[in-house]
Amino acid sequence: MAVPARRTSKAKKAKRRTHYKLTIAGLNPCPNCGEMKRSHHVCANCGQYDGKEVVTEN
Ligand SMILES: [Zn+2]
Repeated sequence: MAVPARRTSKAKKAKRRTHYKLTIAGLNPCPNCGEMKRSHHVCANCGQYDGKEVVTEN
């Protein structure tokens, strides 16, 4: 099995990680309340999905 000749430097590691996403994918603002919500999921803040209230607050 091949073994790396030298350890990956801090600079090399940091440069590779520049491609790491800063924001979570699939997180968009709710069209109703503007709160960040997961796409294809019911909004946790207002309980709306596709313009309809599907979860009622009690
Ligand atoms: Zn909402």
